[in-house]
This record gives sequence, structure tokens and C-alpha cells, in this order.
Amino acid sequence: MSGRPARPSPQVMESLARELRATLGEEAVRGDAATLDAYGRDESDAGVFPPHLVVFPGSTSDVSAIFRLCQAHGVPFTPCGARSGKSGGSLPVLGGVAVSLERMNRLLSISTEDLVAVAQPGLVTGELMKAVESRGLFYPPDPASLDMCTLGGNVAENAGGPRALKYGVTRDYVLGLEWVLPSGEVLRVGRRTIKGVAGYDLVGLFVGSEGTLGVATEITLQLLPLPRVVRTALLSFPSVLHAARAVSAVLAAGILPRTLELLDDVAIRAVDGRSFHFPPGAGACVIAEVDGNVEEGVTAELTSLGEVCLHEGALEVLVAQSETQREGLWAARRGVSPGLRALKRHKVSDDIVVPRSRMAEVIGRLKAIGTELGLTVATYGHAGDGNLHANVLYDSPDDWPRVEEALSRMLRLTVEVGGTITGEHGVGLSKKRFLPLEQPAPLLSLQRQLKALFDPSGLLNPAKIFDDAGC
Ligand SMILES: Cc1cc2nc3c(=O)[nH]c(=O)nc-3n(C[C@H](O)[C@H](O)[C@H](O)COP(=O)(O)OP(=O)(O)OC[C@H]3O[C@@H](n4cnc5c(N)ncnc54)[C@H](O)[C@@H]3O)c2cc1C
Repeated sequence: MSGRPARPSPQVMESLARELRATLGEEAVRGDAATLDAYGRDESDAGVFPPHLVVFPGSTSDVSAIFRLCQAHGVPFTPCGARSGKSGGSLPVLGGVAVSLERMNRLLSISTEDLVAVAQPGLVTGELMKAVESRGLFYPPDPASLDMCTLGGNVAENAGGPRALKYGVTRDYVLGLEWVLPSGEVLRVGRRTIKGVAGYDLVGLFVGSEGTLGVATEITLQLLPLPRVVRTALLSFPSVLHAARAVSAVLAAGILPRTLELLDDVAIRAVDGRSFHFPPGAGACVIAEVDGNVEEGVTAELTSLGEVCLHEGALEVLVAQSETQREGLWAARRGVSPGLRALKRHKVSDDIVVPRSRMAEVIGRLKAIGTELGLTVATYGHAGDGNLHANVLYDSPDDWPRVEEALSRMLRLTVEVGGTITGEHGVGLSKKRFLPLEQPAPLLSLQRQLKALFDPSGLLNPAKIFDDAGC
């Protein structure tokens, strides 16, 4: 049976609430207005969709029991972590139950011999990073939201970050998962070893499934030794096009830094003078970071990178002289998304990836779309990966038709040049109408069949990814 779930009635919710309270305890089930409002929002601007109830499981068996009860009552249920998502993935579109994994936040083990960590899904990513770094180990995926987002949300979105350029994304580090299927059945998939090819790669399928195929209740992660030397530079350019060309030139020169982060003039304006003062007159900046174990090698690599950028028109190369300076710079980078909100009343954030060879051209065309439609377009992000956060800023909801037109043109352009509509934020609610631009009908149909196989009732996180998914 492939279901089309509906918004539950008050009577059904009353009876489910009674059973959830009896199973989980009063404390773990909340229905007050402030909680419902908070769990009806995320960082996506996709709208506000309050659930009828929010539940806070403390264990895998709680999660399983919640899913079984929701299935028995025919009530939609939607998992969430920290609700820092930018595609609306955690929004309970049909109401029902929001299942917050935030109380399952323990770091269960770190093995320095196996280079493995095991954690619960509600652990904040930055907390895991600090814990492993104190043991000389390294967990590279570093979403700019690392101080708030959770590992479960990272797994669901296959989160990336600045260091993905050299080290890859979340999927590259997930070895195994404890996974609760929508039916409530608990599976263990994957392994604890570095290699292993027994059976289909279900870890690969579940990572990036955006909370629509089940929920991670335990996550086994591969770690690396912590690089002993890290050097960071800020390169300023007259324009964003110079900066984009320099990024391509650095990679073409055989240099692989761990980050090449771009900020255009609008992004710089959004954060300048807070934790960091950017060079006056910069039309764009790139944050480059190199790492390794030998001081001379790392310094030589940063010097070569600076020379390539100067050749491409860089105005200045500033190397961070202390950890405080470096942190100030990264705090500025991490502040771009919230900082842009202060420039205009509304913003819509895109997350496109384009072939790196086409990046300068694409940025030029994105800016031209903004100019033609009278809208401000900020471009920043993981330029080393070709992953651009193109943000459309606007003042009034009346501007929405032009914003919608801009988004549509940007995504068409992305697909036209061989790119993808989302590099790390996911399709969720925000981009589902655009997925057919990139993926043909047979591919969409195959994925809908997969969803129906794992979730025949369609009650888990309805109305996400596919345009006709039950809403
Ligand atoms: C300022 C800012 C900067 C950001 N920078 C980056 C960045 O650099 N890179 C990047 O990739 N993203 C970035 N993001 C987006 C966001 O932080 C990530 O998508 C993050 O992975 C979401 O984690 P979360 O815990 O907040 O999940 P939520 O937003 O709560 O949920 C996201 C999705 O995960 C599902 N989910 C949550 N927990 C589980 C679980 N245990 N099992 C299965 N599914 C689950 C939800 O149903 C939903 O579909 C940024 C966001 C902000 C606000």
C-alpha cells in the first residue's frame, strides 16, 4: 500500500497523545503553543508548520515505540535535530508528531586505535569535533552551522562544509548506522571497519535520505589523525569574478587546500567589522586554508597558492598570525548566512553546485539575473567545490514573483551547465518543485518506489523531496 497521509483529526491526536504519555512519560511529550511554534520552523524560509505534538525520545526503543504508535493511529511523524536545515526537511507539513532526537546526544565511544567514534544522533557536530580533537583525532565534515546542528541532521542531509574540498562530506565518514524504519523495526546497517562490501550499501542510501526513509539512532563514524599544522590566509580581489577565476587556477595548479571559501561584496558587507575587519575596498575575498604535518611543506603550499592568486589579480594576501585571528575570520564566514538576513527583510538561499571550470561564468550570470529582475544576489560558499550559496535578498513579500522567477532561472542555468540544484542542503520542501529540472521521470519514479518500499503508509516525513509525495 502506498498511502497519501492526511492531517490528523483532534480526536485521533488526543488518543495518540494519551498513549505517547503513557509510554514515554509526561516530560517527553509536549503540546504547549511555544514548543509547537518553535518546532514548526527551521532555517529555510519555507514557512511555518507547527506539529500537533513534539516528542523527545531518550532511547532507540522510545523511537521505535513512537513510530509504532503513530502508524497504529495513522498520524504523520517527522524527525528533527536542531532545525538548522535550509530546505524545510524537518517541517511537519501535515502536523502530527515532531520527533526530536535532541535528547539522544551522547558520545558513546572514541577509539584512537580503530580511528572510530560512535555517537547518538542528537550530539551537536561541533561537540564531537572538540572531543575527538582533544584526543589527537579529526572529524573533517564542518558545516558552518557546526555549533548548533546535530550529527543526525548531518547524516540525513549528507552535510558538507568548507573542508569538503579536501576531505569530502558526511557520507565519506559514516561507517555504520543503527536505523529505525518507519514501521518501528530497528536495523543495524554498515559496519565498524574501514572496508566492507557485504550486501547492498544501505548506509550510502540512508545518508542523504533527508529523514524520509527512517531515523538514525546511533552513528558510527570514521576519524582521521588530526593534522598538526594548519595555516589560513585571506585573499582579497577586486571582484567576485577575479576570485572565482583564482579558485579554478589554484586547483588547476595542482594545489589542494582544505578550504577555498568565497565571499562576494554583499557577503562581506553582511559580516564586516564584527569578528573580523575585511580589507577596505575588497570586491570579494577567498579564505584559503592548508594543512599537513610538516611546517615547511604547509607554508610552501600556502605561498604557492598566494602566488597563483596574485597572478589572477589578488589585491592582497593576509596570513592569519594567531589562532584568535583565524577564529575571528572563520566566525565571520560562519556569520554570513545570518548576517545577510540583517541586510534585507527576507532572503532565499540557494545551494547550487556547478563544474568548477564554469564557476566564474555562472557567478556572472547569477548576478545578471539579479540585475535584470531588480534584486540583490549574494554569492558565497564553498567555491573550491563549485558549491555556491546564491542568496536572493528582498524587502517585501510583494517581491515574491520576481524572487521565484530569479530562483527558477538560477536553477535552470545550473542544470544547463551540468550542475546540481543542491550540494548539501537537500531538496526537502523548498526545492521539490525543481527536482524534475535535474532528474528525468523514470529516475523520480524509481526513487518514489524506494520510498514506498521503506514507508508504505507514507507517514514518515510526508510531502518532501518529490512533488506529489502525499500533500
Ligand atoms: C548558518 C547556517 C550555516 C549552514 N552551513 C551549512 C554547511 O556549511 N554545510 C551544510 O551541509 N549545511 C549547512 N547548513 C544547513 C544545516 O545546518 C544542515 O543541513 C544540518 O545537517 C542540519 O542538521 P540539524 O540537526 O539542524 O537537522 P534538522 O534541520 O533538524 O533536520 C534536517 C533533516 O534531517 C532529518 N533528521 C534529523 N535528525 C535525523 C535523524 N536522527 N535521522 C534521520 N533523519 C534526521 C530531518 O527530518 C530533516 O529532514 C547551515 C545552516 C545554517 C543555519
